[in-house]
Amino acid sequence: MDWNIDFALSSIVFLASIFVFFMAHKRLRIIENKSYTILFFALFGYFIFELISTALDSEPRPEATLYYLTWIANIAYFFFLGLQSYFFYLFFVSHMHLTKSKWRVVFYCLSTLPLIAAYIILFLSPSLHTVFWINEEGIYKGGQLYKTFVILCGVYPSLALLTVLFLWKRAPKMIDLKLVISSLLLVIGYVFRFAMPGTVILPTFTVLSVIVAYIGIGNPRYYMNEKTGLFSQNGMVLMLDEAIREKKNAPVLLLVITQYQKSRDLYRDKEMDRWLIKIAKFLNSQPLKVAVSYNHEGRFMILTKSEEDAREMELLIFDKLLNTEDKDVASGLNQNLGIIECLDSSSYESGDEYLRSIERAVSLAEAGKVIPVDDEVREKQKRESYVQKCLAKAIREQNVIVLFQPLKDLKNGTFHSGEALTRIYGKDGEIIPPSEFIYLAEQNGSIRDLSDIVYEKVLDFLAANPEETTQIKSISVNLSPIQCLDPNLPKDLIARAKAKGVALSRINFEITESAFINLDYLRKQMEHLIEAGGSFSLDDFGTGYSDLARVTSLPFESIKFDISLVRSYCSGQNTFLPYLSKAVKNNKRMIVAEGIEDADIEKKVSDLGIDFGQGFHYSKVLPPDEFVEFIKNQAN
Ligand code: C2E
Ligand code: MG
Ligand code: MG
Repeated sequence: MDWNIDFALSSIVFLASIFVFFMAHKRLRIIENKSYTILFFALFGYFIFELISTALDSEPRPEATLYYLTWIANIAYFFFLGLQSYFFYLFFVSHMHLTKSKWRVVFYCLSTLPLIAAYIILFLSPSLHTVFWINEEGIYKGGQLYKTFVILCGVYPSLALLTVLFLWKRAPKMIDLKLVISSLLLVIGYVFRFAMPGTVILPTFTVLSVIVAYIGIGNPRYYMNEKTGLFSQNGMVLMLDEAIREKKNAPVLLLVITQYQKSRDLYRDKEMDRWLIKIAKFLNSQPLKVAVSYNHEGRFMILTKSEEDAREMELLIFDKLLNTEDKDVASGLNQNLGIIECLDSSSYESGDEYLRSIERAVSLAEAGKVIPVDDEVREKQKRESYVQKCLAKAIREQNVIVLFQPLKDLKNGTFHSGEALTRIYGKDGEIIPPSEFIYLAEQNGSIRDLSDIVYEKVLDFLAANPEETTQIKSISVNLSPIQCLDPNLPKDLIARAKAKGVALSRINFEITESAFINLDYLRKQMEHLIEAGGSFSLDDFGTGYSDLARVTSLPFESIKFDISLVRSYCSGQNTFLPYLSKAVKNNKRMIVAEGIEDADIEKKVSDLGIDFGQGFHYSKVLPPDEFVEFIKNQAN
């Protein structure tokens, strides 16, 4: 096969189309894309000089000017051949995310050696006829080192293939296999070039390789968000990752629609989407050089180049977006914007960690305010991930501490019941309180496993301490709202108590008002357990909506007044507790008062006719054996 002008021209047109397409689309500002862009310049040079030099070589051209032009065109052709193979290599290696270090510099310097050697023998061609030469008639002739030149250039595709094969786990998912195929195609092209110098099959493989690489990195689905036309969270992570790897500061703003779910319910999907697109357009049209992504649920992330740019962006958002009187936007929506700001990215190790840290601060977002992710927030997050690990370990090893706090029967001054309260171990024997891990367990779904362990321990405790010998009538166990939604919960709790030989009448379940998601369903779940002998208390009454009518529509045996309610009554801040107690009593529910910290509180609470008291005045939380002792010594 001879060099075919049609093919060369169509290759150039083809490459140009891919290039225009690539440039016309929004691209992530990352090294992979930059190296792909540079590669095109070398490829255009390669194809254009291939065309020119072939046109000049094929006929005898003894005229002086054309003779020299043939030399120049061929040198340029070989120059770009070397350059495109080197840039191909850089393109593949850029996906491997080598971290900034001395070694990376050494690596890149060493990798230029074959190219330098190739260029040396290329530029010796006019004097020593190394790679090629042009005879007096202007005809192209191969030189003795032609094959050496091809091997030196062919080192790059082979190195690229090896790098990709060895390090492909480092490349973001979805593009790794395409990288292998793309570099393999190039290697095959070079093998042909070496084995059959007369054929011109390398350009075909080059074009194929560029196409496969384009499919790999240019697929917008991977890094774009369709709805807003902004980058996706995936894309943002790649950009953050690179900034962190290159040790560049990457100040980020997270623009949050506070109360997102509520707003969606209120304004409906269409209106909300319109608002999202409006914000996206606004953020995209700012003169500052920023990269913007739409992460999810009303969260936009803005990656800026400097702290000053971040601050300027904040002002723009507040000025133009928050205070807009745009009639097009449902009134009120623009008032719901808050910003989480992180100006220092130096403490993060990856883009993913950085993004997660900012996302976790979303709960702090407030409309109209900028909340910085500062050292305090970061400390909190560090603690949270530490507790998360301890929790996972506690569940894995079933190593959970269950303590008991006695409840005093205020009518006769005796102690026959208690509440089971959980703790877990940290490192070095530290004991972590439930306020630090229950919400995490609820968030990550491990609350079921945790509760199973606690329930098991309570059952074991009750089985080992029958009422007749220890006077322990019942133990209260806390259930999380998520558990109450589980249709298998009642069956499961009943079966397990039965298996341990514990009567369900010895167990009282405490739930809070946050479990009131579907009252009818909850009532069914409760009735199932009550039928089997169990009972229910409403925990933390006074902290939620505390709608007594709703509360009394459910079969609670008792209502627990939260410590805040007891405190505010005893300090004279609220005067309605007597009425509330009366109303509860009228509904034939018992009352437990939490937070009995001294005799004075006990007296005030007893005077209201409250049935049970719980608090440090009687006892702190106790290990099982001390709890048994406590009941033995103080009951009767
Ligand atoms: P809670 O169920 O309302 O438990 C009462 C909390 O008040 C306990 O805190 C108890 O130690 C504390 N307390 C008792 N007497 C006094 C007092 O006189 N003054 C003061 N200031 N506090 C007192 P704890 O053990 O830290 O538990 C906190 C919350 O964690 C519990 O509140 C409960 O909601 C949750 N929790 C504990 N264990 C579990 C569990 O196994 N499962 C679930 N789902 N939640 C649990
Ligand atoms: Mg409780
Ligand atoms: Mg409580």
